[in-house]
Amino acid sequence: MPVTKQTKRPRAASAAKPLVSASWLKPSSWAYSTDPDVLIGQYANLKRQVPLLYLLLIIIAIASLYLMAGAGPFLIIGTVAGLFVAVGTVRMVWWIWFLPEPDQISVAEARSLLHRTTLAVLPICISYVAYSFLLDAYGDPTQRAGVAICLVMTATGCIFCLMHLPQAALLVNLTTMVPYSIYQVVSGNETFLMVALIAAMVTTLMIRVSLNAHEAFTELITSRAELAQQRGKAERLAVENARLAMTDVLTGMPNRRLFLSYLEDRVQRSASAGSGFVVGVLDLDRFKPVNDIHGHATGDYLLVEVGKRLQSIASDTLLVARLGGDEFGLLIDGDDATASAIGSEVITLLHQPFLIDGHRLSLGCSIGFASFPFAGTTAISIFDRADYALYDVKAERRGAYAFFTPELETHLRAETELESALLSADLASELAVELQPIICLDTAKVRGVEALARWNSALVGQVDPTRFIKVAERLNIMGNITTTLFAKLLAYAVVLPGDLGLSFNLSTCDIVSPGTIDMLIATIVDQGIAPERVTFEITETAWMQDYQTAITHIERLRSMGVAIALDDFGTGFSSLSYLSRLPIDKIKIDRSFVCNLAEPGVGKIVTAIMSMCETLGVECIAEGVESMEDCLTLKRMGCSLAQGYALARPMDIANLQAWLEDGNCQPGDGCLQPGLLALPAFAELQNRYPPPRKAS
Ligand code: C2E
Ligand code: CA
Ligand code: CA
Repeated sequence: MPVTKQTKRPRAASAAKPLVSASWLKPSSWAYSTDPDVLIGQYANLKRQVPLLYLLLIIIAIASLYLMAGAGPFLIIGTVAGLFVAVGTVRMVWWIWFLPEPDQISVAEARSLLHRTTLAVLPICISYVAYSFLLDAYGDPTQRAGVAICLVMTATGCIFCLMHLPQAALLVNLTTMVPYSIYQVVSGNETFLMVALIAAMVTTLMIRVSLNAHEAFTELITSRAELAQQRGKAERLAVENARLAMTDVLTGMPNRRLFLSYLEDRVQRSASAGSGFVVGVLDLDRFKPVNDIHGHATGDYLLVEVGKRLQSIASDTLLVARLGGDEFGLLIDGDDATASAIGSEVITLLHQPFLIDGHRLSLGCSIGFASFPFAGTTAISIFDRADYALYDVKAERRGAYAFFTPELETHLRAETELESALLSADLASELAVELQPIICLDTAKVRGVEALARWNSALVGQVDPTRFIKVAERLNIMGNITTTLFAKLLAYAVVLPGDLGLSFNLSTCDIVSPGTIDMLIATIVDQGIAPERVTFEITETAWMQDYQTAITHIERLRSMGVAIALDDFGTGFSSLSYLSRLPIDKIKIDRSFVCNLAEPGVGKIVTAIMSMCETLGVECIAEGVESMEDCLTLKRMGCSLAQGYALARPMDIANLQAWLEDGNCQPGDGCLQPGLLALPAFAELQNRYPPPRKAS
């Protein structure tokens, strides 16, 4: 048995308690429990068992009359027995009907009742023993034996019934067996004395057994209470965990998971109620550069502040959540007009500068909205469409909101088609490289060529590079495309004049991918191309996606001797302080400036860019030059490198070779383009601005 105890869950109070111990001799074993659950449990037991105890006493009283029939003073015996029956009945009824149910009694009441029950043992037992002595005095030996059996059985029954009130059970034993044994000693009948002693021993043993049972009962109740307590704690923890799993740790806002679960719920409710709602996906503008320049701690703080501003407009009809990174979600109970009003409010709210660590930080945001059920009928489809509307508004006009429209649906389908075409494309055969010359306006010599990607898909035909490159980036397969294109360009380089520069565009994904950078370096080395011939063109926006990683990779490329050009200059971040820190060798002025040179202000900007290039010591290339007039203007402004349809269109390698042959290429001297020189405007250019004479 002790083994069984030890294998049980260890518990402070009872784990090491052996079944047979001397603990019952200790006064503490007989004190009332202080545990409210145990007290109520004891009361519940008594409420069930005490009526039985009184029933037993009533039956014994009636049985005694039958037993003593014809013996002694029947009037006295009958009166006493009748009294026992009456009192027993009243007490039994009282216990059954007049005492409160265990779940309705207070702990103090229960304790008081236990105490009173223990005390009640004294008069009952003493009067029963006295009654037994009376019967014993008048009975013949057989009747006396019957009385003895009745007394012992009554005591045993009472001890059983009072099992969960050990104090009372002990009192029963003491007040019955002790006087009865003394009585038998005095009466001098050895047989009855033996009966009394054996009975006392048995009842004492029963006390021990009932005490064990009571201990087990106490233990059960305590462990049940402990279990309930632990279960309560586990439930509270589970609730807390669920709350945490649904909360964004940084901002304390609902997180993506909670947002999507609300969205699921909203879709179901709206589907059955036939009502509409709008989902918004919000993306911060200019967060990335702030994070890169001021550090992640500031970035985190900024996100918290953004969260606070957004939370300030949250209501019963507007749920705001952080979806991750600098993306937030809006769940709007209302129609498109409500969503538009909220969109404007949010944009104004986030447009106001944030003051953090003494820095005045300006953000902004773009929002894509999708309304139920027009944009989608499942949570995921409606969320994706809001995301797509965001993607579109970010590409078209940052700092605004837009709804998912039927045109976007068409666009989305085309994108999906494009995605699957790109995923199944045979890149080696479907991708091609066209080359567009970059010309020196001073000499009409070809300085280099820019490689431009072409994709002739077997499934969807010719696809614009800006389109398929975006898709490839989203599909995370840009690395393969860049590898294929760069290998093709360097393969061409072998058949091109040795001093011709080779410009190659790198995308956002490329400059943050160590694998792609390794591959670019390895291809240059393997092909034996002089790194000085190679220029990688990178746009500002691509650069800013992950500034630190980009810088590390760019430095690696530059350290091997390749040049870096900042592409599409003027369309991105264009912070001058930032620009001075970028490790670049060239700047390409975006076509949007070059083709608007005639506009007032644009010329000034281009002149400013050129003088800035001079200050920074970087080369300046004007791209998208579409007319000789623009060539002239650029030349007058001091720009000597240009690229554009007016000079040469992008062409395949065969056409480029033919075009260059006309130019009488000499290694080390660039390619003179007589074709260009023959153009009247270019000739005029040459006359007006003769190339600087070479020092002899
Ligand atoms: P980009 O790097 O700014 O390339 C110049 C784009 O301007 C080319 O468009 C070129 O064909 C076009 N262009 C050149 N001169 C003129 C002109 O006088 N007028 C006009 N209107 N356009 C002119 P394309 O080939 O469609 O390429 C578009 C963009 O796609 C490129 O812009 C570049 O961002 C991207 N791209 C092209 N090839 C690659 C590539 O191999 N890798 C990566 N990552 N991006 C590429
Ligand atoms: Ca470019
Ligand atoms: Ca460009």
